[in-house]
Amino acid sequence: MRFYGDYHTHTHLSDGRQNMREIVSAAHRQGLMEVAITDHGPMAAVIGVKDARTYLYNKGQAAQLQELYPDIRILIGAEANIRDLEGTLDIPDEIIAELDLLIAGIHPYTRPTSLHDGMALWVQNSLRHLGQKQSRKAVVANTDACIAAVENNPQLDILSHPGLFFRVDIRAVAEACSQNEVLFEINCGHNHPPISDIIEAEHTGVRFIINSDAHFPETVGELSYGGSLVEALGLDPERIVNHAAGGGIAVWGKKGRIYTYSSSLDCREPARPR
Ligand SMILES: [Zn+2]
Ligand SMILES: [Zn+2]
Repeated sequence: MRFYGDYHTHTHLSDGRQNMREIVSAAHRQGLMEVAITDHGPMAAVIGVKDARTYLYNKGQAAQLQELYPDIRILIGAEANIRDLEGTLDIPDEIIAELDLLIAGIHPYTRPTSLHDGMALWVQNSLRHLGQKQSRKAVVANTDACIAAVENNPQLDILSHPGLFFRVDIRAVAEACSQNEVLFEINCGHNHPPISDIIEAEHTGVRFIINSDAHFPETVGELSYGGSLVEALGLDPERIVNHAAGGGIAVWGKKGRIYTYSSSLDCREPARPR
């Protein structure tokens, strides 16, 4: 399977070992039409950006770099952290409004919004080896957090690596993604999810995106894990939004299509003409 773009990469401003130029140059070499830079949100210890304003800096960098690489479209997004059972993300709306795309996922060592949520998500998960009951409770909490993130963030384009680090009920999460037009990610950096989860998710009608989650230039555009799995399963390429003939983010991205990004204009009644 050939691909239009890779929509999940990290620079050294989060936990990548590469700068933006190396990512763009690698993606260009791979013949991709689009590449997205999606550093981790600020609330994940060690791996996150220092400050959400980093994304504005990335935008400025991308604008300069775009002139040097006219053949590939550079997009700036974020991989936000899901912080609680309500699906709260760790990037303010006004910054999200500036992004080209939004990814969210659950990551270890994320600062929760409250002690209660910290208990439900991070502590339950760290206790899960203690027994089946604790493990079930952790899966319920993780699933609730993912579903809430999908339902409560209309800007969300992609749920990253569902079930990685924190087990979830794949069918329930995929169902929520399908209903809210959120893409279910097949993550080639982590070889996740396994084929059984893709089969499970596929039944819900959800659409997939295959990303590299590259932290090194060598893995930018490296999408063969997902490509070979969906081919083996005989999935219709139309179900994979970033297949080569898919047309790119202009076709499936939410910005400007489903979600109006200008929050100041969004909820007010238009002024009446005098
Ligand atoms: Zn991630
Ligand atoms: Zn990532």
